[in-house]
Amino acid sequence: MLITGIKGINDILPDDVGKWQWVESVARRIFSNFGFQEIRIPLLEKTELFARSIGESTDIVEKEMYTFPDRNGQLLTLRPEATASVVRAFIQHRLHLNPTMRKFYTIGPMFRHERPQKGRYRQFHQINAEVFAMDDPMVDAEVIYMLLVFLEELNIPDVTLHINSMGCPDCRQPFRKSLTEYLGRVSDKLCSDCQRRRLTNPLRIFDCKVEPCKQLVREAPVLLDYLCNDCLSNFEGVKEHLTSLGIGYTIDPHMVRGLDYYNRTTFEALTPHLGAQNAVGGGGRYDGLMETLGGPDLPATGFAIGMERLILLLDEKIEIEKDSNRLFLACLGNECQKRGFQFAQQLRLRNIFVEMDYESRSLKAQMRRADKLGATHVLILGDDELAKGVATLRNMETSVQEDIPLEGIVEELLQRLRSAM
Ligand SMILES: [Zn+2]
Ligand SMILES: [Zn+2]
Repeated sequence: MLITGIKGINDILPDDVGKWQWVESVARRIFSNFGFQEIRIPLLEKTELFARSIGESTDIVEKEMYTFPDRNGQLLTLRPEATASVVRAFIQHRLHLNPTMRKFYTIGPMFRHERPQKGRYRQFHQINAEVFAMDDPMVDAEVIYMLLVFLEELNIPDVTLHINSMGCPDCRQPFRKSLTEYLGRVSDKLCSDCQRRRLTNPLRIFDCKVEPCKQLVREAPVLLDYLCNDCLSNFEGVKEHLTSLGIGYTIDPHMVRGLDYYNRTTFEALTPHLGAQNAVGGGGRYDGLMETLGGPDLPATGFAIGMERLILLLDEKIEIEKDSNRLFLACLGNECQKRGFQFAQQLRLRNIFVEMDYESRSLKAQMRRADKLGATHVLILGDDELAKGVATLRNMETSVQEDIPLEGIVEELLQRLRSAM
């Protein structure tokens, strides 16, 4: 029987890879201008890392993680997000002792066992940026600014910014109390999941996708009304710096993000072109996480961008960088093929794209293949040419052909292919 891939876990075929590479290269270029360095973290972690960081009673940990015991009985999880791992690595390698290690980004696949739908898969890809040990509102504004600059560079249309403050433990206490009271009053109208959340983690009711709950949440008390003075002035600072950078924003008091660890400024970049799930990227501050995971008490903020959704939003007409010249070797007959085989390797070593025919097909068939490969030039080498000590170079665009002596042909080709752009 045919073995197929796993539902919701997709291949990215060569025709699509160009877009992915382009998005990644734009991220690398822009993030590095902002002082971010790449960190590569493993796909597998101990389950407790995510349980402790994301929160035991979040949907991710309760329902969506790929968790399994390895052969020694150690519980492992395929990472459902990147932040916890970056924080773990920062702590483990004591990077806080090195003042040049503050801003990180990472790009790669994450895994969540959700119902697959367009733009949302069980293996999905994220670009993550994280900043540690800096808590000035300027840093929040700058991280948001970098996200928007990145989306603009990719020409993502109609992006708007929503921000909120999730406060601190001090202001959460009175808020939690009044939220719990409100939920108590409407508890009979809540879905069964939210009945339970009401007692375990009431804030998670804001994530519920069930319609009656969504309605009730709209009338629930919001954290923004309970901010302590410190959180209030911090949020004012972030807004001021955003304005100074010319960034417009909407304050969305109902935006809570799906993870437990956020505090103070959170944000989402939204676009109307994604249907119901309209966030293309988002994040926020998570000052307590480092300490929760056993590290030093250092502040942190960051964001994640869903690459699948980003790719859906890319302009179809986007021109992925034009290739340089591409040479196809059309060799006729055994002897010519042997010579061509050698030329091909010599040119490749000098950084030229070369493809050739290995099956001794007719010239016509070889020319067709050259065309399909987008060859800009074809070098034709047959017995007649070989006898004359030449090969024929055809420019596929102009159809001009000329003979080139075999003696010194590699240097000659190099010169022509590098210049004739
Ligand atoms: Zn506060
Ligand atoms: Zn609900």
